[in-house]
Amino acid sequence: MHDSQRHIHRPWKPEDTINIAKNIVKWIVRKKTLFLNERFTRRIITHYTSGLGCEIGPGVNPQCPKERTVFVDRYRQYIPGHPIALDTQADAADLPFCDDAFDFLFSSHALEHCPDTLRVLENWCRVLRPGGLLILRLPHRDRTFDRDRPITTLAHHIEDYKNQVGYEDTTHRQEFLDLSMPYHHSWKEHAKNADGSWNIDYIVNEGKLHYHVWRQTDMVDILRHLGLTIRFVMDDIPDRVDSFLIVAETPSHAVAVPD
Ligand SMILES: [Zn+2]
Repeated sequence: MHDSQRHIHRPWKPEDTINIAKNIVKWIVRKKTLFLNERFTRRIITHYTSGLGCEIGPGVNPQCPKERTVFVDRYRQYIPGHPIALDTQADAADLPFCDDAFDFLFSSHALEHCPDTLRVLENWCRVLRPGGLLILRLPHRDRTFDRDRPITTLAHHIEDYKNQVGYEDTTHRQEFLDLSMPYHHSWKEHAKNADGSWNIDYIVNEGKLHYHVWRQTDMVDILRHLGLTIRFVMDDIPDRVDSFLIVAETPSHAVAVPD
């Protein structure tokens, strides 16, 4: 007799009912956990923040509460037909807001697309009030297509700041093409010329290039260099497995990049 037939014909036992009940409970707990994990970043933002915030680079998946957040993106294409209407189109390094305008600033996967990391962070801290919160969700070098690239050093960021590098900075292009592009799937075909070579203009102009690469400890060092206090760090967050999350508090004095 086949195994499955033997199971079908054996008498029903009380433990069968118990097992079914256990499985239903497990299923409910798993669903609940998944639901909570999906909203992990949103729950962190809600937990840590109050007052008015700014979200930089929300794309099609904003995380901050709409009723108390100003949404800013450099790329206008994220407006039509998408779940949020942008409030402002601006570059991350040149926000059109006065000093101390916000209680918190959140950004997910935007800073790596900016050529001058310290200048951007300096600007974000400028629009935050003293004691305001900077919340960053960023790609973890080991869990993205950047996994073969070297970590960007603080010394490199300081040099970029001194040189006032812009989007035309070519320093990281070849490295990105050689080490990151092979892992890409979603938009790789659009980034090729007719002869099969990479169309670097497309990659740069569409904001696809990752200039810099970090693990969470490297970003902690950068934020501490700027005088921020780290309030929360998580290496591997449940709602976005390629990312780490940091909550940092701005000092009581204005943030300036040290010499
Ligand atoms: Zn650089």
